[in-house]
Amino acid sequence: MSESSTEEAGVSCGCKVGRIGSRYDLDGLDDELVRYWTDRTDERYSTRDLAEHVNQRVLQAALDDAGLQYKDGEIENTYRLLTGEDVSSGTRVQTRKELERDSVPVDEIEGDFVSHQTVYNHLTNCLEASLDSPSDEERLERSRDKLGALRNRTAAVTEDTVAQLDRNDVLDVGEFDVLVNVTVTCKDCRQQYTIRDLLEQGGCEC
Ligand SMILES: [Zn+2]
Ligand SMILES: [Zn+2]
Repeated sequence: MSESSTEEAGVSCGCKVGRIGSRYDLDGLDDELVRYWTDRTDERYSTRDLAEHVNQRVLQAALDDAGLQYKDGEIENTYRLLTGEDVSSGTRVQTRKELERDSVPVDEIEGDFVSHQTVYNHLTNCLEASLDSPSDEERLERSRDKLGALRNRTAAVTEDTVAQLDRNDVLDVGEFDVLVNVTVTCKDCRQQYTIRDLLEQGGCEC
């Protein structure tokens, strides 16, 4: 049987991301990078988030190589202690010492950490990935969600406010419902629309 290299991560190119992908055996890294970067939801990763993800996988692989056990969240935390801007130099030195004591080659690992620019180049040059702009339908969908959430929040705050005034006898009202209606008026023809209808029909009729 011939050796299969297709499933190996990071052998697609010779850039730094490709090299560390091979060296640390980061399975499926390229797929992850493209998927997280082009995700059409709010969960989408920036290239900074992606660089952090790559570096944490490098750190994890190095801890695995050293045979260390780690708890949930420990990789993220160790990475933060090594690189975070808000971490004191004393804490950083301490973290490095502990890792070295556990036979983790800290210098080497830090040298293998990648920047967001390197990840961006890998994505666009080596993997030929690109960020498509969202379709009109996706934009409408997102706007609908955003405005819907805003309406719900307005309704909730209104309800709380009225209920509180009622409890304090500042206001007198029976059981009540709150309905939030947002209307948009076209200044060309004075036609009014609820925002829902306007989005639904894709514009004014004038
Ligand atoms: Zn590359
Ligand atoms: Zn109009």
